[in-house]
Amino acid sequence: MGSEYDEAIAALSNLLSDKTDLGSVAASKIKQITAELEAAGSSDADNRIKTGFNHFKTEKFEKNPDLYGTLAKGQSPKYMIFACSDSRVCPSHILDFQPGEAFMVRNIASMVPPYDKKKYSGVGAAIEYAVLHLKVENIVVIGHSCCGGIKGLMSIPDDGTTASDFIEQWVSICLAAKTKVKSEYNEMGFQELCDHCEKEAVNVSLGNLLTYPFVREALVKKTLVLKGAHYDFVNGKFDLWNLDFQISPTLAL
Ligand SMILES: [Zn+2]
Repeated sequence: MGSEYDEAIAALSNLLSDKTDLGSVAASKIKQITAELEAAGSSDADNRIKTGFNHFKTEKFEKNPDLYGTLAKGQSPKYMIFACSDSRVCPSHILDFQPGEAFMVRNIASMVPPYDKKKYSGVGAAIEYAVLHLKVENIVVIGHSCCGGIKGLMSIPDDGTTASDFIEQWVSICLAAKTKVKSEYNEMGFQELCDHCEKEAVNVSLGNLLTYPFVREALVKKTLVLKGAHYDFVNGKFDLWNLDFQISPTLAL
């Protein structure tokens, strides 16, 4: 940012120290200073994005014309990944997925809601597209350590009262996981309960995937496998497990 930023801050300080003169002149000055501050701040943000893209373009895009040429014609990912929106758990980084390898949904606490055309159409559309059109072979739901969404779920009072507009209602998708860990590990402290809930919530999401008819059909035809995972970024560990639901063919009808 530099001197313009410093000058703007100094000007704002002077203005605020002289409150006796806050008329229209002052108002326009504040407007001007605010615009300068915004310009100074946004250029840093813009530069970070431009630098990042330039790095990608020179180091990856231009060095892999075959890969990007193929991807320009279409995608055929083998994986559908559910991951948390948390900035520390990007699947492309931690699993080294290259462009074209993984079709992703990221949301608070990497939850899969049950089939519901009205409430969860965004997630439903992604699953439908991945399974029916892209024909992904694996759906992997990845939970993670220190998940704020899971802490939020575990913190919802037993009477169900909520204070947020969206978050608590969203994470309540995995309320069954909270109930299970609280009954199985009732002697444990809050942090340990959250640790267990991070994995149980993944299992609830895997169960919810079975409420989608096209997922059940693909499982019965054995063209699709569901996997649960947990990424521990404190200890650098990654657990992966398969869930065998023993699906009966009649469930796919
Ligand atoms: Zn999270």
